[in-house]
Amino acid sequence: MKAQDIMARLQAKYPGEVEYLQAVQEVLESVEETYNQHPEFEKARIVERMVEPDRIFTFRVTWVDDSGEVRTNTGYRVQFNSAIGPYKGGLRFHRAVTPSMLKFLGFEQTFKNALTTLPMGGAKGGSDFDPVGKSNDEIMRFCQAFMYELWQCIGPDQDIPAGDVGVGGREIGYMYGMYKKLAREYNTGVLTGKGSTWGGSILRPEATGFGALYFAQNMLHKIGKDIKGLTLAISGFGNVAWGASKKAVELGAKVVAISGPDGVCAIPDGITPEMIDYMLEMRASNRNRVEDMATKFPGKAIFTPGKKAWSVKCDIALPCAFQNELSEDDAKELKANGCWCCCEVSNMGCQPGAIHFFQNNGVLFAPGKAVNAGGVATSGLEMTQNASHISWSGEEVDQKLHFIMKSIHEQCVKFGTRPDGSVDYVKGANVAGFMKVAQAMLEQGIV
Ligand code: GLU
Repeated sequence: MKAQDIMARLQAKYPGEVEYLQAVQEVLESVEETYNQHPEFEKARIVERMVEPDRIFTFRVTWVDDSGEVRTNTGYRVQFNSAIGPYKGGLRFHRAVTPSMLKFLGFEQTFKNALTTLPMGGAKGGSDFDPVGKSNDEIMRFCQAFMYELWQCIGPDQDIPAGDVGVGGREIGYMYGMYKKLAREYNTGVLTGKGSTWGGSILRPEATGFGALYFAQNMLHKIGKDIKGLTLAISGFGNVAWGASKKAVELGAKVVAISGPDGVCAIPDGITPEMIDYMLEMRASNRNRVEDMATKFPGKAIFTPGKKAWSVKCDIALPCAFQNELSEDDAKELKANGCWCCCEVSNMGCQPGAIHFFQNNGVLFAPGKAVNAGGVATSGLEMTQNASHISWSGEEVDQKLHFIMKSIHEQCVKFGTRPDGSVDYVKGANVAGFMKVAQAMLEQGIV
């Protein structure tokens, strides 16, 4: 296989699907060499099959807003790959959602899920519904209307959605309520990220951020360092940024910045537990403004409009918001300010130019599909608990999450160690995930 030829074909077939093409290109470049050592993969055209989703459902979602106005959005579910288990992945509600965005996310999810050690295939879904400024009732009506179409496509052994940007515990609750009514089934395993009193796993809300910090610790230990006392710049203030901040503070690191679409809040003395709790309120308000933190904690959080978290001096950058949120210029600014490590927590948070800059300039870098896999891994643990009608304690879940993140790190080291002993985490994660899915597809024949 020649990555270039496959990319040329996909570009011609899906012009304009920039995020999807970017995600495929990154993986194909990393795996080309290893793949070509396996003629049996080439014979079964594994790559050509793996880059195409199994199927995509598209549906209209109509709902009524608080003023009585009828609104229409588009809903999607991309079932990308089921080689190693039922389809699994989140739902994203954001005004910029397109099939290209969900195809990139479903593709990434396939390899991420393979890395978790758990049997889950890859999927993603969502809608171009914009939660910003919506009331609680509007959110509920939209979630119900969305599930009215989605329920036929999903099931506990078939496809198990969860949250993502714009979808948290509240939305999962509203969607599950409607699913139950329509399917007349009380199998909570159909969705993950549920409330902890009705089948949700303890620690699922924290899991993506906690897992990211465990991964960072593994990376740092490998080079003889510790996270204690280091400064972290975090982008976003949503669920992932919240969990990451919580664990960072617990481990003795200092979070010196959080950000939003409106700008950045620098926090020179480090984020406090009160500020971390306030992030939850900021998110629930649906205002999508980080400036609210500076208003609530004057003098402690200093807001600068229009700036990113990457303008704040730090040791480690943790992108926790959205794809392509860190550009090559941002990478240069970070490095110039002394940053020496970037753990990508958002899916494809760094632009290709930023990744190349980090890798060529001695900045330790790990990709989202390894760093943020603790979220979906804990979803996998939630599925196990639901299927066996049991509930594990927070300690048990945390212990399993530790083990999973350690094993993801080991897979990256196994497949990504360079001749000089340093680790190319991008290559390691891509090759490890890819090989597992490719082998499963091969064993299951031409389907
Ligand atoms: N949306 C999250 C991710 O990007 C979690 C998915 C899940 O728990 O299924 O991995």
